[in-house]
Amino acid sequence: MSNINGLIFDIKRFAVHDGPGIRTTIFLKGCPLSCWWCHNPEGLSNSQEIIYYDYKCMNCDKCINICQQNALEEKNNKIVRNHKICTSCGNCVEICPTASQQIIGQKISAENTIKEIEKDRIFFETSNGGVTFSGGEPLMQHEFLKETLKLCKKRSIHTALDTSGFCHSDVFNTLIKFNDLFLYDLKIIDDQQHKKYTGVSNKKIIKNLDILQEKEKDIIIRFTIVKGITDTKENLRDIINLVSSFEKIKGIDLLPFHNVNEKYQRIGKQNKLKDIKPPSSNDIKRIKKQFEQKDLNVRISG
Ligand code: SF4
Ligand code: SF4
Repeated sequence: MSNINGLIFDIKRFAVHDGPGIRTTIFLKGCPLSCWWCHNPEGLSNSQEIIYYDYKCMNCDKCINICQQNALEEKNNKIVRNHKICTSCGNCVEICPTASQQIIGQKISAENTIKEIEKDRIFFETSNGGVTFSGGEPLMQHEFLKETLKLCKKRSIHTALDTSGFCHSDVFNTLIKFNDLFLYDLKIIDDQQHKKYTGVSNKKIIKNLDILQEKEKDIIIRFTIVKGITDTKENLRDIINLVSSFEKIKGIDLLPFHNVNEKYQRIGKQNKLKDIKPPSSNDIKRIKKQFEQKDLNVRISG
């Protein structure tokens, strides 16, 4: 029995956009990137956080009264948290009668994660599905991830890793043999632009993609279409040139950006793209066609 615990923030069952068949997607907390268009801001931090659902709140003020940090106050009939002084102790969560305050992030062992995954085995078997590890960036918890992948392998459960590929190549190399399919996010090829919009260089990401190619692993490239940022003429040209030079790419998943401003507000994080609109269906069709012209198998994902 391993004593490595992971920190996860969601388990999504019956997922149909996270790899082949019907899948159970486990979301691991923590990410070294800070993409402006992140759809899961609750996965960015690698520690537990509190989220507030204002529509459930009945303004009883119990949370305000129990908070020893004085981190909560009421403004315009809503509870406002000062995230700088909140220690995520969870007292407001325990006392809230309506579950308006909730903790994001649950510690779980690899063995208990497998028990959760096993509940859906029948769906994997009838649909050629399996489990997908997403986040956040699952590689950030590589020890927990490796243990859980090994347990999946023992049970012949197909695994997919939804990853930015951002981690040290030694870590990446030791882990990839335990995983079946890589859902590999490519964002921006120009490194300066990559740093600007994600906070990190893409050098490790490109290097790790090369490693997957050399090892002949199954790869699906995921590309998020963000107007004016990732869908520029230059970036599309560079991404398409790069992926069409690889032989082992099984397909491209295009992910149109959508705004999740409410999530950002509930967790108290700044959304840099709150005014950006999703790409139009014409934009999506045009980009799909550009990939297809290089004989790439393209799917528009959710
Ligand atoms: S989690 Fe603790 S510190 Fe943070 S607001 Fe709630 S009671 Fe206060
Ligand atoms: S304890 Fe819950 S219901 Fe009461 S004010 Fe706080 S968040 Fe709202």
